[in-house]
Amino acid sequence: MFDDKLGCKKCNASPEPKTSRSTLPYEITRSLYESSHYAFWLCECRYCGTPWLEYFKEFIGWLDGDDKMYTSWMPLVEFELAEISRNFPQERGRESIPELQKYFGRRRTLVLDPKNSYHWDQPGINPLHLAVTGSP
Ligand SMILES: [Zn+2]
Repeated sequence: MFDDKLGCKKCNASPEPKTSRSTLPYEITRSLYESSHYAFWLCECRYCGTPWLEYFKEFIGWLDGDDKMYTSWMPLVEFELAEISRNFPQERGRESIPELQKYFGRRRTLVLDPKNSYHWDQPGINPLHLAVTGSP
């Protein structure tokens, strides 16, 4: 399950800080859910074709007025892609959020943090839990 061999060198690289989204290898193939503070997209590595799930989350800075945006990318295995394609024949409502969040944490995940730098989270860290520590 925790297969770090998914993808190629390009989609497993660590991008330089401030690398723009458009130069990353993850090509968005379709939107699964979009709202002002959450979004999920299916992506595909433009070099090796590996499917990736992209997750955007904005935490509202109630205290300091500073909204914090995180974006995560995790490679999908075949059965997960099939499951998502089956469960999301088109965009659905807010119930999509927990349903798609549950995929994260299964394997290493690239994270773009609010300071515009990238790092890889090890399996077991689910961005869902970031919400607990990252917001009041
Ligand atoms: Zn790749």
